Amino acid sequence: MKIQHIILPSLALGAAASLLPFGEKAEGFTTIGGSLSLSQRDVRVFDNFTDASANNNTTAHPQFPGYTGIEMATWKSGVEWGAELHGDGTGDTLQTLGSGGANFDISWQGNATGIGGTNDNIHSELVGSSGGVLAFTETPIADGWRIRYYDSWSWQDGPANVTSGICYQGVATHEYGHALGLGHSTVSGATMFPSISGTGVSARSIEADDQAGVQFIYGVKAGTKPRITSVTTAPGTVTINGVNFSATGNEVWFTQITNNTTGNPVKVTGVTSSGTQITVNVPATAGPGDVLVRNNGTGNANLSNAWPFNPNSGSPCLPGAPYCTAKLTSTACLPAINNNGGLPSLANPNAFAVVTTFMEVGVNGLSFFGTTGQNSAPFNGGTLCVAGTLHRMPVKNTGGAAACSGSFNYTLAEMTAQASGGALVVAGATVNMQTWFRDPPDPFTVGLSNGYQFQVCP
Ligand SMILES: [Zn+2]
Repeated sequence: MKIQHIILPSLALGAAASLLPFGEKAEGFTTIGGSLSLSQRDVRVFDNFTDASANNNTTAHPQFPGYTGIEMATWKSGVEWGAELHGDGTGDTLQTLGSGGANFDISWQGNATGIGGTNDNIHSELVGSSGGVLAFTETPIADGWRIRYYDSWSWQDGPANVTSGICYQGVATHEYGHALGLGHSTVSGATMFPSISGTGVSARSIEADDQAGVQFIYGVKAGTKPRITSVTTAPGTVTINGVNFSATGNEVWFTQITNNTTGNPVKVTGVTSSGTQITVNVPATAGPGDVLVRNNGTGNANLSNAWPFNPNSGSPCLPGAPYCTAKLTSTACLPAINNNGGLPSLANPNAFAVVTTFMEVGVNGLSFFGTTGQNSAPFNGGTLCVAGTLHRMPVKNTGGAAACSGSFNYTLAEMTAQASGGALVVAGATVNMQTWFRDPPDPFTVGLSNGYQFQVCP
């Protein structure tokens, strides 16, 4: 049995910092040997946490249906390692969730009824303390893991920024990195760095070195990997849209509806598909959680990303969220892109608009969009936040009079009507949008907003 732990900065930073001279770029991740097979992707928590602050998040979120408190924080710590954004990526105030880019995704299985054995894949608290150790992961990982958190620390479930005690989600994200096969990283700021800074909240978000690590173990996300892009429910059935489903022999994995004594997902097997759509009856033992598709292969690249699934309320329509970084204009305006408060539903396409504000006044500009994901590439002195083919909306004038008061918007109806790309704005599509406008005094004569991502609802 191997034990990996995370310790406080006061005990670890001196030694760790000397491993990486300032300014040096290095691949810093390490591995502990082995990987989790498809039969070990389940994650559960036994809620024996004694701090009230570990369970005081009582606000539900549609991306994590059915769970709050320590359960939601545990779930988030697992999906952060997932191949794709978890659903639309929202649910955490500090980051988008899910970005490992590897052939690796978890199956959330809710509450366990005990701490389990060392290979039962359960997070739980442990009475006692051990110097500066916060938590540890028991392996070997080939047949599973167990993660324990010392009750001598003040565990906080967030979900907002954690400013006192210890961020459970951050430490859980680190420990789960061990469970999937990573050792410690020499890269300061990586989630797998051996010590945390402050409350450990920054460890919630995996960094490039952590992504390189999970991709090294499980392979870079294959082009043939099944990918779920949307899920819709009707009473008793679920329809899953995506790509790379097999014609026959698919499996659909659900979260168990009650406390899960085995960790095994509820599976519907022998499922046929069109390749891009699966419809199955929801088993009576399946509850709120997530849904995955395994096609008829058996390797890491044959299991899809996990998608939020709520049999009780149908697939919720969400407004989406901003991401990426805007470019400061020549007069120090910081453009911002967001929604108008509506929901991106095709049933009412004039009620939703993507709005850009804080632009230069009285100049021409336009928003552009793509449907193949986020980007973060240098562009005209700023950042291009949209991946793939870019589709331009019609030019508009920012108007305004006071400094930084330029703004314009585009409704969902305008997007679907657009000659270029409008046909891609269909239910289930993920749209990434950004705004470009003229800024003559700027060295590139161009202003850029940050990005906005939303999923189109029926
Ligand atoms: Zn560790």
